[in-house]
Amino acid sequence: MGVIEKGVVMRPGYIDGKTKLLLIDGRWVPAASGKTFETRDPATGMLLAEVAEGDREDIDLAVAAARRAFNGPWSKWKPADRQLLLLRLADLIEANIEELAALDTYDMGAPISRTRAGRHRVVGMLRYYAGQAVSLHGETIENSLPGDIFSYTLKEPVGVVGAIIPWNSPLTASIWKIGPALATGCTVVLKPSEVAPLTPLRLGELCLEAGVPPGVINIVPGYGATAGAALAAHLDVDKVAFTGSDVTGRRIVQASAGNLKRLSLELGGKSPDIVFADADLDAAVPGAAMAVFANSGQICSAGTRLFVEQKIYDEFTAKVADFAKALKVGIGADPETQVGPLVSGDQLDRVTGYLDVGREQGAQCLSGGERLTGGAYENGYFVAPTVFGGVRDDMRIAQEEIFGPVISAIPFTDIDEVIERGNATTFGLGSGVWTRDVGKAHKLAKSIRAGSVWINCYQAMDPAVPFGGYKMSGYGRESGKQHLDEYLNVKAVWIKT
Ligand code: NAD
Repeated sequence: MGVIEKGVVMRPGYIDGKTKLLLIDGRWVPAASGKTFETRDPATGMLLAEVAEGDREDIDLAVAAARRAFNGPWSKWKPADRQLLLLRLADLIEANIEELAALDTYDMGAPISRTRAGRHRVVGMLRYYAGQAVSLHGETIENSLPGDIFSYTLKEPVGVVGAIIPWNSPLTASIWKIGPALATGCTVVLKPSEVAPLTPLRLGELCLEAGVPPGVINIVPGYGATAGAALAAHLDVDKVAFTGSDVTGRRIVQASAGNLKRLSLELGGKSPDIVFADADLDAAVPGAAMAVFANSGQICSAGTRLFVEQKIYDEFTAKVADFAKALKVGIGADPETQVGPLVSGDQLDRVTGYLDVGREQGAQCLSGGERLTGGAYENGYFVAPTVFGGVRDDMRIAQEEIFGPVISAIPFTDIDEVIERGNATTFGLGSGVWTRDVGKAHKLAKSIRAGSVWINCYQAMDPAVPFGGYKMSGYGRESGKQHLDEYLNVKAVWIKT
């Protein structure tokens, strides 16, 4: 894989016209209903595969398999055995990274340069968790009770995890659920997005090849309202790890009430990216632009509210617009492409709807602002990278998550004002600050209510550093040591001697 023909990375052999099946209990099986759904390349409309459509019955079978596996020999695996398993899986993913990157690109449209660059987030993540797997421990705690009573804690896997993921980064999202589960000794039923199921399914093959025991990882693609809802509500699922929109997040919370299962929620954002006049503007222009245009804006932490200090507002926004106009928009499989298509017709309608709303509410379109059609764009869902100027805080394009290549540029005059306005959102996922003034940088880092603050950079990520939301961007953390605690219970043990 990775062979380039006519300037395009060839599609992986996994896209071979055969129907992709569900992974349940270590076997590839059709859906109980016999139903399938199509998955297509959003750049060209090409049919990639038919995929077995999981539903409630398949989720029941997968959860039962995950429960048996959790109670079976898997529970006796030593941390060092789980460590070796994670390392084997990491090696297999590394050996197949070109194929996995191309699958992500074909299934959801991201530029191949981007999906390839995700390697550190997945291979590095599994190796990081391999290290953590042998470092999980409770504590001995000196208590103040009278008499000789000794206390300590144990950390134990939470059990069967329902993992529900979106389409915008299928490989990374899958690994961010499977990795911590394998490190801690949990079992998983993973429901990929119906929009981009192919990479998670291929990953299932690699899990089996690495020696993951039957039932430990089950993969059941299907629709949210059926398979997803069944998993979220299942009474024998101990925890749901969800990544997706705040709208679905609320449904997951309601569905979890039946057995009060544990939840972690990685939801959407409307992140402020704040540029001061004293910043290195040569770095800030591409930095602020790609904080949104990477992945066509389909990134939860995209810096979509671009606050620019008034005295450089016109000059800076013009430069960002020029940068946007110069980006190469094209099919993801072309290594030269910087901005690919949106993932689907629904997403296209959503984004072009917001372009209309922006204009109607009085924002000025400085670049883009339209769907791209004709020639290579004809059968895909392409939108030109868009910069709106003259945006006010109360406009919908400044408040709502668009999840497309759209920057809303907003002027500000001083630091306290921009802190208040930057925080005036229901979300709190990412944020950016561009300044040469270290005092301002620290003040912003402390004052912004968001899970990540990037200063003079954007979207830096590492397996050892936690990622997650404040406010309606969700709760729980992925990456870092905290991630594993989301998959562990703490048990207190008391011994009277
Ligand atoms: P979505 O919420 O529509 O779907 C996410 C997943 O939930 C899919 O697998 C879907 O099938 C499933 N689902 C839908 N309805 C369900 C229901 N009623 N019960 C259970 N499952 C259901 O989101 P999307 O369009 O796939 O992804 C885009 C969203 O994801 C954006 O809001 C983005 O910000 C967010 N996101 C967040 C992060 C993060 O780490 N915070 C990362 C990536 C994406």
